[in-house]
Amino acid sequence: MTKFTDLKLDPKVLKAVIEAGYETPTPIQAQAIPEALEGRDVLGIAQTGTGKTASFTLPLITRLSRGRARARMPRSLVLAPTRELAAQVAENFDVYAKYTKLTKALLIGGVSFTEQDKLIDRGVDVLIATPGRLLDHFERGKLLLTGVEVMVVDEADRMLDMGFIPDIERIFQLTPFTRQTLFFSATMAPEIERITNMFLSSPVRVEVARQATTAETIEQQLIELTPTRRDRAFSEKRAMLRSLIEAEGDACTNAIIFCNRKIDVDVVAKSLKKHGFNASPIHGDLDQSVRTRTLDGFRDGTVRLLIASDVAARGLDIPAVSHVFNFDVPSHAEDYVHRIGRTGRAGRSGKAFTIATPSDDKYLAAIEALLQKKLPRGVPPEGFAEAAAESAARPERKRDGDRPERSERPRRGERKPRGERPPREAVRETAEAPVEALAEAIVEAPEEAVPAPVTELAAAKPARDEMRGDRAERERGDRGDRGERNGRGRRDRDRGRDDAPVVGMGDHVPDFLMREFRAKAS
Ligand code: AMP
Repeated sequence: MTKFTDLKLDPKVLKAVIEAGYETPTPIQAQAIPEALEGRDVLGIAQTGTGKTASFTLPLITRLSRGRARARMPRSLVLAPTRELAAQVAENFDVYAKYTKLTKALLIGGVSFTEQDKLIDRGVDVLIATPGRLLDHFERGKLLLTGVEVMVVDEADRMLDMGFIPDIERIFQLTPFTRQTLFFSATMAPEIERITNMFLSSPVRVEVARQATTAETIEQQLIELTPTRRDRAFSEKRAMLRSLIEAEGDACTNAIIFCNRKIDVDVVAKSLKKHGFNASPIHGDLDQSVRTRTLDGFRDGTVRLLIASDVAARGLDIPAVSHVFNFDVPSHAEDYVHRIGRTGRAGRSGKAFTIATPSDDKYLAAIEALLQKKLPRGVPPEGFAEAAAESAARPERKRDGDRPERSERPRRGERKPRGERPPREAVRETAEAPVEALAEAIVEAPEEAVPAPVTELAAAKPARDEMRGDRAERERGDRGDRGERNGRGRRDRDRGRDDAPVVGMGDHVPDFLMREFRAKAS
């Protein structure tokens, strides 16, 4: 079996790797590192958790250990779709480059431009960035990409989901064609294939694990829930979640709870807290410092339950999670695999519960088709009936009353000329308050107290297409709100076709029509 000592890594890098406690490269590392060290382009098809970060960081540091950085001309570029992923790459770099003199800068939203400019001005060897922020710096004339020797694209499939591909193409074009490219993606969608054909030069393709496999060490259970009333589905799902967590007891040391929509992330977190659980939300609308604090708390065990959206959690390196709960069945089958992959890592055992209502049938069918097996059905824990009765006794605002994340959507004619536009970060920050406040209202208020306009009810219909639009909205938070660039234009067009909110009654059925009337006995 290959050892790190067999790879031709710089001795300083090797020392840091050994000190980090790693002796044997993971399969993606064993395959990718020698090729990357030879200077070849690498197309790595690997999911997070496979050790892919080190598979590009180690050869990158080795290659850069000779030579010096020049002002404003980074020698390498690592692009990651979200701030957390970029920050994670930066942490990896710090670990593996600690015996070298290499410098890095992290260009992500939520960090002041001035600080970042200073670093770039001094000259950096490694620039780690999200695409939007990188182009912001470039457009401000603070950065030249003509000195880039190595360019890494991490989680390309997520970049695609987030509409970043046009940005990536542009960045590729700004770097010299003689650069080495290390490109990683969990899946190879046709658009990704196109980009790699265009910008990679005779890449060696390294692949680990089949797409859509779930680890053997994860015990999966599907908990079917038929709500007693349509408008109680949301609160009964929360009751089910509480009873599942309680039934697991101490075995559930920590868990990630996934919701499809970020407003639900907030509502579920608040509801759990209200019931005495140690829970915190994480999604793209939260301030960066809050997200960092929450994640640190989850890593060190001070936060037990992390309620997350797919984007916020994707790719995060959280080593030992005992449980995953899918509060919602994911509307994209591959997200199921990513979600439950948060547990059962590195041979540890883990449990994944998915709460499904009859309206999830088609998503469930898609997941089972992807996995090529039926999910084992579990039974609701004993505590569920009691928890549901407790929820019923305290009426909460019904799910159809959840407002869409309207505050985040650009209104027609609102776009300001470029010079007047606030920095993207400022835009992102303003989106935070309404979602928070709304979540509070949903958890706190009895149904009658927060009437929602009919148009909102119609727009809140959780149809698949809207889920897709909603997903893009959620992701906008993570990508630093780079609304005006080309990726957005395309999304808006798509939304116009697929996700236009229904004005009027839409598919919403008013409650009085749903009521049962019993004929009076004569
Ligand atoms: P990644 O896929 O890059 O997010 O890495 C997932 C986890 O694997 C991280 O916690 C790494 O620190 C860890 N890791 C990376 N390389 C190795 C290795 N060779 N042996 C064991 N764990 C590793």
